[in-house]
Amino acid sequence: MMAPSPEHDTATGAPLPPLVPFEQLAVIGCGLMGGSFALALKAAGLVQRVVGYARSPHTLARARALGVIDVEAPSALLAASGADLVLVSVPVAATGQTLRAIQPLIGPDTLVMDVGSTKGDVVAAARAALGERIGHFVPAHPIAGKERAGVEHASADLYRGCQVILTPTADTDPAYTERARALWQALQARVRLMAPEAHDAAYAAVSHLPHLLAFAAMRALAQQPQAAEFLALAGPGFRDFTRIAASDPEVWRDILLANAAQVRAQAQQFRAALDTFEAALDAGDSAGLRELIADASRVRTQWAAGAYSAAPSPQNPCTAPLSSTSPR
Ligand code: NAP
Repeated sequence: MMAPSPEHDTATGAPLPPLVPFEQLAVIGCGLMGGSFALALKAAGLVQRVVGYARSPHTLARARALGVIDVEAPSALLAASGADLVLVSVPVAATGQTLRAIQPLIGPDTLVMDVGSTKGDVVAAARAALGERIGHFVPAHPIAGKERAGVEHASADLYRGCQVILTPTADTDPAYTERARALWQALQARVRLMAPEAHDAAYAAVSHLPHLLAFAAMRALAQQPQAAEFLALAGPGFRDFTRIAASDPEVWRDILLANAAQVRAQAQQFRAALDTFEAALDAGDSAGLRELIADASRVRTQWAAGAYSAAPSPQNPCTAPLSSTSPR
């Protein structure tokens, strides 16, 4: 296998040393995220063999037929056996049991990562499950995805140009954090390090609450007697606002439960804002309502124009408006 060409540090622009390709990647949870990771590593020439495990034999067979994995493993433990890289890409509530299952066969040099959308619970589960191998675990959250789950939707370029948040803890060996950083950068992702708690607070605001609101908005509409008539009349604004309401129920149940305290705190902020808008309506306050909308519109426009560090742009489809991606 040819060594991949040197990449550049996405933060500094400095050339990175070539990453030594991995011999065996174990993907535990062969869905959208795990499947995309396997395809990306293969496309970059960074892995020789991919062994997969999923809950259902059907998913595993699909992953093999699609060329996402090379070998089907009968258990998570056997998938991890002999792997020098393990990616746990299951719904977050299944992370602890998965790490416990593989712990006995994590090799002395094996890098273990997850892709879960919440990090405080994942870090706690890893501490309880991994014993002396805790230093090998680098919690990761790629800010990329789609509202369509499943290996059929996996693609080699899902992570290109996207942010990946790493949340190493005091238990994580810094050398493994650096390997994880180099790996994601070789996939052309932009890596950022954060504390797990800061991660969960931020993503409650910019991802978890917005998903909850989309689910709630769809429910509120669907429960009305005229729902079918209303839906038949809906246009692009409705399509854009509700796109993420089509997300996977199991994955999102786990995320919302795992980050419930932060999501509830953000819900309070939202309720207060809704009350402010309703008060303006009640009062017939035309100027006040216009001002509220103008404030919201200005922040949204600035964000879309790249005024903040994770700015969306046509070159960055992970966060580009109206793209088919759904960062969680
Ligand atoms: P997905 O497409 O539904 O894939 C999940 C995979 O995990 C499936 O292959 C499923 O197998 C398997 N699985 C479920 N429970 C398992 C268990 N107990 N043991 C082993 N395998 C199990 O979901 P996804 O979107 O890839 O999400 C995976 C993770 O990525 C989640 O933690 C999510 O928070 C995170 N994430 C998702 C996105 C996104 O936009 N999708 C973005 C960032 C992070 P079966 O098919 O056999 O059920």
